Amino acid sequence: ETAPAFLSVWDLHAYYGESYIVQGISFNVHEGEILALLGRNGAGKTTTLRAIARLGDPQVRHGEIWLDHARLHEMESHEAAVAGLGLVPEDRRIIPGLTVEENLQLAQIVEPKGWSLDRLYDLFPRLGERRKQEGVTLSGGEQQMLSIARALARDLKVLLLDEPYEGLAPVIVDEIEKTLRVIKEQGMTTVIVEQNAVRALELADRAVILDTGSIVFDGAAAEVLENAELRAEYLAI
Ligand code: ATP
Repeated sequence: ETAPAFLSVWDLHAYYGESYIVQGISFNVHEGEILALLGRNGAGKTTTLRAIARLGDPQVRHGEIWLDHARLHEMESHEAAVAGLGLVPEDRRIIPGLTVEENLQLAQIVEPKGWSLDRLYDLFPRLGERRKQEGVTLSGGEQQMLSIARALARDLKVLLLDEPYEGLAPVIVDEIEKTLRVIKEQGMTTVIVEQNAVRALELADRAVILDTGSIVFDGAAAEVLENAELRAEYLAI
């Protein structure tokens, strides 16, 4: 049997105002695995990540979210962050006016028990080479790396990635994918939302597929890759 769930989402219902988006979903993420959260545009993937991270929008009206015995559903976003949740948003949010290193140091000031700068530069050598460069002047791929490194600079238990490959050239996607595998080898638990479903499925152990706010598949990532009907119906690939 599988290990007990590390991150657990139970009967989650989330709204933007009166728009009912996430309609009662339950799924588990086991410690050390990579879960791909997939589905067509508008299926509710980003909404689910934002709900888990306890951002004010969307509003969670029902459900429970547990991370390693902590009740995230009772927390504000800053408390969820302290509990070990790290969301890397689609727009990367690099802080203007700060160098690469200062962006990382800022994360460590907030919470000093995360990965050291040496360990982060070991993982992302490009960031080490550019440590004195202003973060916002990095290439798109480098900014994505900085955004992931900044999450790891805190004391993380689970890494949530919202479309980390968006707008990046295939060689850069290769590089980030390789790094995500190393992060996994080092024990991290990861949830990845990606439009590039094939790339996400090749990386992930398991997949959850959403369709208009409900779960239509929960199982091995390889099973989705092998199931042409499932792919065509819910992922358009
Ligand atoms: P995409 O890949 O297009 O980002 P997604 O699966 O991540 O898709 P969500 O961003 O979660 O989808 O959006 C789900 C639904 O919620 C969509 O219909 C979207 O229009 C709506 N929505 C998203 N953000 C808001 C918001 N701030 N206010 C109102 N509705 C929103």
